[in-house]
Amino acid sequence: MPKTPIDYDLHGHCVVCHENMSVIQIIGGKPERRLTGKYAEEDYLLNDGSTMRVAICKDCKKELNDDSTERTRIMDCVFKGWEHELKNYSHWDEEKKKTHLRMYSKKKIVTRTRGLGLDMLDKKLKHFNNKGNKHDSHSKA
Ligand SMILES: [Zn+2]
Repeated sequence: MPKTPIDYDLHGHCVVCHENMSVIQIIGGKPERRLTGKYAEEDYLLNDGSTMRVAICKDCKKELNDDSTERTRIMDCVFKGWEHELKNYSHWDEEKKKTHLRMYSKKKIVTRTRGLGLDMLDKKLKHFNNKGNKHDSHSKA
């Protein structure tokens, strides 16, 4: 089967180098998806306070330095993945897809969460959002 190059987030693929880290094995007569030994994950805090887990290969994970270029690149990749996923949502109309993509496009990575405590994450989130949109003045009690 010819392989089409993938430059977006897809299940079992590395978000940085896009290597496929899953294989289909026939187990008990049924095809099952298995992750290879290269599979690893990384967690990120997003600007809306949610966390996002991405698949990343062990090689790329070692090279991560959590700078803004890297964060933007990973977020772009994930966003493109959402775009592709929505194409398969034939039960959604175009307007609903557009609304969702608009919502997704506002998501940004604040920081990698690895090694950071809740206090630190909270601080980074507040700092990030104060910098980005000062007009957003609703405060959490
Ligand atoms: Zn990789």
